[in-house]
Amino acid sequence: MKVYERTENGVTTRVTVREALAEANTAMMEGRRQVKTMSSQHGRHDIAYKDGRHVLLVMVDVEPEPEEWGSAAASMLLHKFQGDGPADGSADYRAKCNRGIRWYARPLSQTEGPRLQTRTELEASKYAHLHTFCPRCDAK
Ligand SMILES: [Zn+2]
Repeated sequence: MKVYERTENGVTTRVTVREALAEANTAMMEGRRQVKTMSSQHGRHDIAYKDGRHVLLVMVDVEPEPEEWGSAAASMLLHKFQGDGPADGSADYRAKCNRGIRWYARPLSQTEGPRLQTRTELEASKYAHLHTFCPRCDAK
């Protein structure tokens, strides 16, 4: 899976290809007045902004993070679930820490159906403060 490592003034975070290209394109097009210097090659964009920020975007290949976290009905405790068949609610998925706990497959949004999620995705969501990751599943 391709992602970009974005380093701004020494601090590196991981962003999607789309986010990285959006920043590079903005720096080249409508945002170019804010740019002092910029060099772009495939998979690498080095942008020095006039306000002093220096942003380096480098494409890297990483192992995809597993989509394995979900919750049981009426619970904000997130477990890692596993089962046979697609993780879309059509198969029986049970928590890794306790096979008696079933995944409650609810749609993620009005446009996206149920699926298990990555930890990063859940931590970035606006409901992150409501969730707790099951420590026993986390250790597995
Ligand atoms: Zn658990």
